Amino acid sequence: MSQVHKVIIIGSGPAGYTAALYTSRALLKPLLFAGYASGGQLMLTSDVENYPGYPEGIMGPEIMSDFRKQAEKFGTEIVDKDVSSVDLSSRPFKVTVEGEDFFSESIIISTGAEARWLGSENEDQYKGRGISTCATCDGAFFKDKEVIVIGGGDSAMEEATFLTRFASKVTIIHRRERLRASQIMSLRARENPKIDWKLNTSIKSWTGSDNILTGAVLTNTKDNTDSNLSFDGAFIAIGHQPITGFLENQLDVDNHGYILNKINTMTSVNGVFACGDVVDTRYRQAITAAGMGCMAAIDCERWLEEN
Ligand code: NAP
Repeated sequence: MSQVHKVIIIGSGPAGYTAALYTSRALLKPLLFAGYASGGQLMLTSDVENYPGYPEGIMGPEIMSDFRKQAEKFGTEIVDKDVSSVDLSSRPFKVTVEGEDFFSESIIISTGAEARWLGSENEDQYKGRGISTCATCDGAFFKDKEVIVIGGGDSAMEEATFLTRFASKVTIIHRRERLRASQIMSLRARENPKIDWKLNTSIKSWTGSDNILTGAVLTNTKDNTDSNLSFDGAFIAIGHQPITGFLENQLDVDNHGYILNKINTMTSVNGVFACGDVVDTRYRQAITAAGMGCMAAIDCERWLEEN
């Protein structure tokens, strides 16, 4: 067997990097698999205004670059590859990355969550051909065009407000009358003259020509009537799902696939800890993920000491 690490961290958002910062300062020499798309969801965010310590706000990729540098400063080894599978059935645990096996006495999972899709008719056909889940990535393609944003949460409000920088008109489509978004985010969107609203409305199917999206058939969720809407682009912002596929059901999860922690941040397998959006169905903030990364690192360090 090759070298056995003290701790392997899987995932590189605020939770993973904070766990790396704490475990490296505890001299545990963490090995962190950051994934090809390292940095997590903040890499797809423009202005971060609610991370304490940045009164002027900071760009998402910039703060993640700082998180990474701080973890590296204390000796975290970072590999920008995706973990394909883990074997948690015996210790040391095995982590497989592109056919290569790594072994560790403990694991901290912080793989976060990824954007959900609607699953409406024809969606697959127009993914990346007019339908996106990331305004920060694709918004600039829609300069002076009309776009829609689907969702009623903070993400939808944020994406819609951001898209008004480029688009001539942004229509928010939400399946209920009431928004789920916070007051401040809703108000900001409501006060934006470029934003229009279609509440009590869902997407029945997507329409297009020559494989390029041109609109959708909408359904009024109150009276079930259909109507057509033409636009140039659509941004789906209906929340996220946890990234746990590589675990192959080796840990207890809830009905939605989020990892269930048993004692503090320890999962159903002793020595395996989880933190951030992969466990968090309630707060899902960068600051709470970072806080949980710190908790997982401390729990992990104490568990290693005791075992
Ligand atoms: P969310 O709060 O779960 O909201 C998802 C929205 O999508 C809801 O309005 C929901 O409708 C709708 N939705 C879900 N499934 C749908 C479907 N199949 N068809 C149509 N609509 C659907 O998710 P989020 O907006 O991504 O926010 C997640 C967390 O991140 C929240 O805690 C939020 O506060 C936080 N966040 C914060 C900021 C910020 O402060 N800057 C920015 C973004 C996100 P219903 O309301 O009917 O359920």
